[in-house]
Amino acid sequence: MGRSSCEVVAVGTELLLGQIVDTNSSWIGEQLALAGVDSYYQTKVGDNPDRIKKVLRQALGRSDFVIVCGGLGPTQDDLTRDMIAEVMGVDLVADEGLVERISAIFGGRNRPMPSNNLRQAQVPLGAEILSVMPGTAPGLKAVIEGKTLYAVPGVPWEMKQMVSEDILPDIRMKAGISSIIRSKTIRTWGESESGLAERLADEIERLDREGEATIAFLASGIEGLKVRLTAKGDSDSEVASILNSEAEIVASILGDEIIFSYEDQTMEEVILELCRDRNLTLGVAESLTGGLIGSRITSVPGSSDVFKGSIVAYSGDAKQSVLGVPDIPSVSQEAVEAMVSGACQALHADVALAVTGEAGPSPNEVEVGRVWMATSVGGVVQSHSVKWPFDRERIRQFTTITVLNTLRLRLIKET
Ligand code: ATP
Ligand code: MG
Repeated sequence: MGRSSCEVVAVGTELLLGQIVDTNSSWIGEQLALAGVDSYYQTKVGDNPDRIKKVLRQALGRSDFVIVCGGLGPTQDDLTRDMIAEVMGVDLVADEGLVERISAIFGGRNRPMPSNNLRQAQVPLGAEILSVMPGTAPGLKAVIEGKTLYAVPGVPWEMKQMVSEDILPDIRMKAGISSIIRSKTIRTWGESESGLAERLADEIERLDREGEATIAFLASGIEGLKVRLTAKGDSDSEVASILNSEAEIVASILGDEIIFSYEDQTMEEVILELCRDRNLTLGVAESLTGGLIGSRITSVPGSSDVFKGSIVAYSGDAKQSVLGVPDIPSVSQEAVEAMVSGACQALHADVALAVTGEAGPSPNEVEVGRVWMATSVGGVVQSHSVKWPFDRERIRQFTTITVLNTLRLRLIKET
């Protein structure tokens, strides 16, 4: 017998119309992979009896396990339980235990139970009810011609609990899978995907031959590229040690200039950690980013012990009066250096960063995309300029991440 496989069927016309995104299938797909279960197909089908039956039969014909999500609710257009019964060739019967359980849930909420909800107590004869039932919709399990079909509600939090606590352990047990698969995400910034691939080419080739782990690249827009290491083993500790030694190899090839996190942290989380470890406080002065930098930093819980604040000084006037910038063109080296010193002083911060630039679209006296960035570490101010070939929003986003990375590099090299 070959290896067992599991496929996912998502039921709901709104999935086909693009009214809701089928995040259930992608989540289940990821969980199957982590559980070491092969999965070759995912299907979406509308709320139509014949098509649901057809898809269920097809799935049962080619996979050992099938997880159906959605259409298990109490209303007439929720067809999944009826179609499972038809595929099994059996009737729906009321499960007395379920009737009581569902009535009790409504009783507990002090609400009368709509009679429709009793539909959810109907179970195809011979099917089982999943023991995990977080909401009012029960999950189902049926063995059909040697294949196992599971049905879960479409509501993501109910679905997730049933899949992880009930269905995956059941599939792994039946499929005789004891190995586990884990990933580790290394985050990089400042190198292209082809650049990373080139640097890691020898190592990827070695892994292809020796096979203890795999390396994959995931682009994450302005947040850089993730390098995902994946390994398989018999225990958490075995897999962790494979991943850690692989991470060390990758680190020795790419280095800390490119790698900013080994724990899937964001750039701002890393900056805060670097400052915290060194007992440094951080201040920001921002013009064209209008608070984006401060916003990213404060989105990290617990940032207040490091972060003093961000001064959004947009007009030339504000730069002069709040940050002590002299009366000079705002988008210039002198201005950004005065801004960063002003931020250190006004905010009593040990380290600071500042940005000023022209994000467009209508050019003022400077070229659109011209941005000046400065950092102050240990009282030493450094600045540099870039000319972004982007639209306004991307100029602001790129500026934010770039200046944060500039500060990160100075913190790891100079402090
Ligand atoms: P209910 O008891 O809520 O009717 P159900 O099993 O009938 O549950 P659906 O009616 O298909 O499930 O979906 C309920 C809600 O769950 C949808 O409105 C949608 O928000 C979400 N949902 C359903 N299917 C998916 C899916 N594949 N991916 C993400 N969300 C989904
Ligand atoms: Mg429904």
